[in-house]
Amino acid sequence: MAIHRENIKDCFVQEGKMALPNQYFAGRVGSRFIIALRDKKKILGVKCDKCNKVFVPPREYCERCMSRLDENWVELSNEGVITNYTVVHYNDKHLPRKAPYILALIKLDGADTPFPHIVEDLDPGKVTIGMKVKAVFAKETTNTIMDLDHFEPV
Ligand SMILES: [Zn+2]
Repeated sequence: MAIHRENIKDCFVQEGKMALPNQYFAGRVGSRFIIALRDKKKILGVKCDKCNKVFVPPREYCERCMSRLDENWVELSNEGVITNYTVVHYNDKHLPRKAPYILALIKLDGADTPFPHIVEDLDPGKVTIGMKVKAVFAKETTNTIMDLDHFEPV
């Protein structure tokens, strides 16, 4: 964003651009989750047998009892319910969609934790808590979490 010169008359400002090569490692558990989305179009979680809770996205340890969970994978339904939502009303180059769009917390059938994702094919004024939605996978991989492209009403 350009700074307006009249607001900073005593400041020296040099405009520029930087390109930084980088890598992001999702971790062992996160990698398995994303690879299952990408290659099998499946949503995986992990289950804590002690607490009888299924976590999605998966995590290495149970947040309640600290049991290790990374060997106890479960496959989840592609359908779930909206447990909360917001409608994004502004545009920004970092955002995944043009406004307005629905960003919802979705609890998949069989999961105990909701996770955030985009809901499409629905008027933002018509979204409700408890609405049943299903996953729509990307037609071509992006090799990111966005291989699960969005959710839409069932
Ligand atoms: Zn536990």
